[in-house]
Amino acid sequence: MTLNILTLNDVPLYGKRVLIREDFNVAIEDGKVINDMRIRAALPGIQQALAAGAQVLLMSHLGRPEAGIYQEKFSLKPVAARLEELLQHSVSFFSKLQPIPKTCSLALYENVRFLVGETENSPALAQEMANLCDIFVMDAFGSAHRAHASTVGVAEFAPIAVAGPLLMQEVTALDRIMRHPQHPLLTIVGGAKISGKIQTLHSLITISDTLLIGGGMANTFLAAQGFNVGASLYEPDQVPRAIELLKLAQQHSCDIILPQDVVINEGINKPVAAVTSTEQILDIGIKTSAAFAALIQHAKTILWNGPLGVFADPRYAAGTKKIAQAVAESSAYSVVGGGETITALEQFNYADAMSYISTGGGAFLEYLEGNSLPAIKVLTKKNES
Ligand code: ADP
Ligand code: MG
Repeated sequence: MTLNILTLNDVPLYGKRVLIREDFNVAIEDGKVINDMRIRAALPGIQQALAAGAQVLLMSHLGRPEAGIYQEKFSLKPVAARLEELLQHSVSFFSKLQPIPKTCSLALYENVRFLVGETENSPALAQEMANLCDIFVMDAFGSAHRAHASTVGVAEFAPIAVAGPLLMQEVTALDRIMRHPQHPLLTIVGGAKISGKIQTLHSLITISDTLLIGGGMANTFLAAQGFNVGASLYEPDQVPRAIELLKLAQQHSCDIILPQDVVINEGINKPVAAVTSTEQILDIGIKTSAAFAALIQHAKTILWNGPLGVFADPRYAAGTKKIAQAVAESSAYSVVGGGETITALEQFNYADAMSYISTGGGAFLEYLEGNSLPAIKVLTKKNES
């Protein structure tokens, strides 16, 4: 581990008030948590602190409510209920930032995004959070790219600030790809658009041996190569960027592989060159997914973000499914991130076959850009001072 930060293992926890920033930004329907992957991922840190005899306080955001206005659909109450089931331990729910009573061992605060000053990283709010604890633990990898009061400010003001086990696990998994991958390193990037992923693509091209591109973003690259992408989703204003990225790949000996055939409306498979102006490209074609799968077989390290087609519609799911299967069957070290990519893996029952699934969406992509995330930077600074 190259990071110069303290972790939960480095500090005495007995009798301490330990405030953990979690990423409990989970899907909730009718007052019930419907996907608890992020809650389960947070359990080791909570259990470690409880077992060591700490009083444990948890905080998180959920969705994007307007600050200062309570809305039940953004309440973390259903998360407290799910936590109680998973931990078999009672969880007090605090609607305000109150101090933890002596008799309480585990509590969850209400959504920090209801608090005025959270997203602005208000020093007053950060200080108020820091006052609640003896030790602050950052374990919300999925929120580590945000410089908010509950992720960065509180770490500055808390007497001690350390990284939790989930944050360390995420960083270790991503560093295994970014810093010391076994080659060939193969990257798969899909999803709707390239615009939000330019920096990530830039960084991935410099480290990958092969880059497979699918999804809507492939259309912009195909357009950059002069193909007619018809009525497909694509970003004309990003074509110059796509051309630059193709050049960059040549300089770095990274093979960018684009679809040779595609699935268009009604599930018809055809070569890219045959797409007409009224047609939409909605998935990678059969030849393409076979070629991608063959390359995946030879990789030693695999990184994947973004579905290769509109997988929510069964007519356009085959490409993503075939790639998921190929990664699942490969013996390479594989890391997958991105909300919809993980949904696809779960849908096809391949999630357990990946080496590591990141809990971060935006944070995952930003980490891959090669920049240190603000919530990690502040922990480093803390350790140096
Ligand atoms: P993630 O959430 O895993 O980071 P993205 O948000 O980048 O992934 O992209 C997922 C979206 O991309 C999905 O909604 C999917 O329908 C869409 N998508 C994939 N391929 C295409 C395509 N060919 N045309 C339009 N949208 C696509
Ligand atoms: Mg998404």
